[in-house]
Amino acid sequence: MVKTVHGLFIVLLLGASAVSASTLGEPGSEWVDLSYDYSQDTIYWPTAAGFELRVESKGPTDAGYWYEANSFRTAEHGGTHIDAPVHFAEGRNSVDEIPLQRLMGPAVVVDVAAQALANRDYQATVADMTRWEETHGALPAGAIVLLRTGYGRYWPDAERYLGTAERGPAAVAKLRFPGLHPEAATWLVAEREVNAVGIDTASIDFGQSKGFETHRILAARDVPVFENVANLGRLPERGTHVIALPMKIKGGSGGPVRIVALLPAR
Ligand SMILES: [Zn+2]
Repeated sequence: MVKTVHGLFIVLLLGASAVSASTLGEPGSEWVDLSYDYSQDTIYWPTAAGFELRVESKGPTDAGYWYEANSFRTAEHGGTHIDAPVHFAEGRNSVDEIPLQRLMGPAVVVDVAAQALANRDYQATVADMTRWEETHGALPAGAIVLLRTGYGRYWPDAERYLGTAERGPAAVAKLRFPGLHPEAATWLVAEREVNAVGIDTASIDFGQSKGFETHRILAARDVPVFENVANLGRLPERGTHVIALPMKIKGGSGGPVRIVALLPAR
């Protein structure tokens, strides 16, 4: 039941679904943080410099008040981040151009941890998607599909998470982590209507990918991707909502993103 202007706004924001204004304010509902923090320990691609926070001011001022301010430097594609479609498709949306509608929706968690933990080169298949549908029904329109490989348990140990802790161009060939198979990506965009896709590894294409086909398929259909998504083990396979708001970098190919999921009260 919508009782206030504020509540009405929230209903419009999340669209027609199980989540309503009353759910948002309901005692027992819970927000889950799906972003890692950014620090010198944050995992970046082997060819990208890591996150750097520089202290500009920290201490008491002559005027008698405390003052802290920093600057930071980061690659767009490190830590929990978004890939804008333009990352792999010329002329498509940059991060500031992605419609807000795309960045929120009902969360669908496809759990392939059993396969992926047994095989670092595992690529989630169409069968993994249809298995979810056999249990829960068709993927809801506007779904945010989150692929859970279980590799979040290795964060921030680069050796175990990426397959190598080495840095530099030669390390790229040593990346070994699971991803989403290009055929499954094609199925998601051609047979279903998804808003975005996310994964708890460093890339939606598996570590050994050479052509980044899954990135290209999703980008060509304006589907943004979230990578290094945290805490997927805390979400049920359905019934939650996700909001993923990236830093609004004009012309950016991606950037840091704060992703949250709402678990309604049970
Ligand atoms: Zn990326």
